[in-house]
Amino acid sequence: MNLILLGPPGAGKGTQAKRLEDQYGIAQISTGDMLRAEVKSGSEIGLTAKAIMERGELVPDEVITAMLAARVSRPDAARGFILDGFPRTEPQAAALDRMLTDKGLRLDHVIELKVDDGALVERIAGRFTCASCGTGYHDIFKPTAKAGVCDVCGGTEFTRRADDNAETVAARLVAYHRQTAPLLPYYDAQGKLRGVDGMASMDEVARQIGVILSGKA
Ligand code: ADP
Ligand code: ADP
Ligand code: ZN
Repeated sequence: MNLILLGPPGAGKGTQAKRLEDQYGIAQISTGDMLRAEVKSGSEIGLTAKAIMERGELVPDEVITAMLAARVSRPDAARGFILDGFPRTEPQAAALDRMLTDKGLRLDHVIELKVDDGALVERIAGRFTCASCGTGYHDIFKPTAKAGVCDVCGGTEFTRRADDNAETVAARLVAYHRQTAPLLPYYDAQGKLRGVDGMASMDEVARQIGVILSGKA
């Protein structure tokens, strides 16, 4: 099964992709996570991407599609994948279509997480991640059970993303509405687009996605 999770920054793509990965044994492919790893390692891609990400703009399509093509070819993606944060522009979507055709693969569904811009700012402002195991949390909506200790691994160090500040979020929302939202009609025309209520609780969003994947929607 090959899926795209589409939605603005903070909509809950990463949260739901992780659940789908565990549930269906398919690979979560997050271009944002991949870029952050490149920045951390100081690679050539990382050096290109860092300043762009800090401004909340999009990294050039050629850089992203090359990175994505290499990732999709890795063995863990053979059973299927969930694209989280890709594609974000029409050229990326077209490149993905070509890539899938070349590999004899097809997209099953494109799932849009619908969330109001006002709620996104609150979600992004409260987002933090366990530095040891990468589990995602939220100050209000998903705090750790015990303050300062990761529920999953017991780690006590957490990180917040450099671009999760009010100024950069505004730029990321502009980029979403200008460059990524046009993909909604693109996939609707392919008959692949399905919507879920991203304003609902994490469990309810997961339930709605489950209904789509079981073919009942
Ligand atoms: P979010 O989870 O908030 O939607 P991501 O982690 O997906 O954000 O992306 C963080 C940043 O990485 C983006 O603001 C952008 O600069 C860059 N980025 C990630 N994926 C892409 C992509 N497919 N195309 C261009 N830039 C990307
Ligand atoms: P994205 O990958 O789309 O940028 P995330 O999955 O990282 O979004 O979610 C952004 C923040 O909002 C995280 O801190 C996450 O815990 C929280 N969150 C995710 N889904 C929901 C939801 N349905 N209700 C409330 N908070 C949520
Ligand atoms: Zn942890």
